[in-house]
Amino acid sequence: MSAALASNLEKAARALERFRGAPLGHFIGGRRERGRGTEVFENRSPVDGSLLCKVVCGNDEDVDAAAQAAKTAFDAWRKTTGPARRALLHRIADLIEARSEEIALIECLDTGQALRFMSKAAERGAENFRFFADRAPGSADGLALPAAEHLNYTVREPLGPVAVITPWNTPFMLSTWKIAPALAAGCTVVHKPAEWSPLTAMLLAEIVSEAGVPPGVVNLVNGIGERTGRALTEHPDIRATAFIGESSTGSLILSQGAPTLKRVHLELGGKNPVIVFDDADLDRALDAVVFMIYSLNGERCTSASRLLVQRSIHDRFVARIAERVRRLKVGHPLDPATEIGPLVHERHLEKVLSYFEVARGEGAEIRCGGRRVAGLGGPYVEPTLLTGARGAMRIAQEEIFGPVLTVIPFDDEADALRIANDVRYGLAAYVWTENAGRALRIAHGVDAGMVWVNSENNRHLPAPFGGIKASGIGRDGGDYSFDFYMETKNICLAHGTHRVPKLAG
Ligand code: NAD
Repeated sequence: MSAALASNLEKAARALERFRGAPLGHFIGGRRERGRGTEVFENRSPVDGSLLCKVVCGNDEDVDAAAQAAKTAFDAWRKTTGPARRALLHRIADLIEARSEEIALIECLDTGQALRFMSKAAERGAENFRFFADRAPGSADGLALPAAEHLNYTVREPLGPVAVITPWNTPFMLSTWKIAPALAAGCTVVHKPAEWSPLTAMLLAEIVSEAGVPPGVVNLVNGIGERTGRALTEHPDIRATAFIGESSTGSLILSQGAPTLKRVHLELGGKNPVIVFDDADLDRALDAVVFMIYSLNGERCTSASRLLVQRSIHDRFVARIAERVRRLKVGHPLDPATEIGPLVHERHLEKVLSYFEVARGEGAEIRCGGRRVAGLGGPYVEPTLLTGARGAMRIAQEEIFGPVLTVIPFDDEADALRIANDVRYGLAAYVWTENAGRALRIAHGVDAGMVWVNSENNRHLPAPFGGIKASGIGRDGGDYSFDFYMETKNICLAHGTHRVPKLAG
């Protein structure tokens, strides 16, 4: 064991002490509480199966208590001035930065993600708060729409209490991506984190409270999706649901929110293509292709899980990828050298492994990997490269959500676009070519909410983030987030000169 791993393990054990003892409950109205639910489930680390904590599954009464707290806090929070909200959100960012190592270490043991990525995820969480903090004072801004004898102008008003439901991949960063704009807009929040990775959500709730955000503005209810999550999406006082997770769950969120007419924002799955043409800068493309599927264990919505590579360079390019994949370092997430940690859960490993059988059955080749990693204990999977695939195969159609790349050759631009678009998803696409016209043609023709040309996923917070088709509804980022968390009101003032229609006069 390296000295760095030993030291990280020691620090992580200290950070986890706060979760030992009583089961992890909820954070409602500014206080940690056990809640009223009697069902308790175990949260085990994917690294070695050790018990991290027990978690109380929130029941309908817990969800109702959290929704009531958010409703009660809303009036004062919406009236808190923009500059005051800005100061509080910056204070949250300060506290996240001060605790970023603790957050990263806990996140690694809760999710299996490697520390090299999770340390940046904590920093990105702080950046999300700073970005939306600075926009809080302008969040209500609207448009002036003058007409001949009237002045129309718009203002934006916060929606009210909103639900934020997050998945287990990079849970801390994703929570901040939703909660920061909601708070900047003047909404109050009830957060339901994923049952496989609940720990850092409690840290965030505590940080928000410590920063001086009033009780009830951010609440947290732990629990199982089908029960606690469902109750939250059905609650009549919750005005909207901001959801990140699987496409099938997204459909449920829509129907569960229908009776109460909830506004819904869905960030769902993907089967994102990276299209590499023979005129591309292949060294840079190679780095990006490998990074975009094997970083974060491939458990990332924007991962480029389908490599579409032009037939003329297919064999050479794939050989270079295979050489890299064989050298990826699989290991303990707290080892700074580790590039791939264990998958989040045994059940998820089973799903990923099942696709290797599917690949064999469909006649694809498992060029690298394709097995559970022996000897490491947890749900570790070998980084895997599947070649000889065709667009119609399940390994080219379905989201595997692991370090598994499916390679499909193409002949020309039209062929590349046809394969790229022949899936139900449409989150992200990546294009590598030195031909600007071709890059534009692909970027405009591909079914995706986001396209990166000659780049890996490179986030710019004012830019819209989201997908089309089965990858989602709505956009986050910059002002797009405020469009979701706020209502636009139009106010029309007359100059007093127009003719008012007269009846019975
Ligand atoms: P999931 O859909 O199983 O669960 C997500 C959350 O929804 C969890 O908190 C869960 O408890 C809750 N939930 C489950 N059923 C529910 C119900 N009926 N009502 C209310 N809540 C319910 O997703 P997951 O397996 O945790 O996460 C992985 C998925 O998330 C992948 O498909 C991935 O692509 C997607 N994802 C998308 C984005 C994006 O921005 N598009 C980002 C990250 C992850």
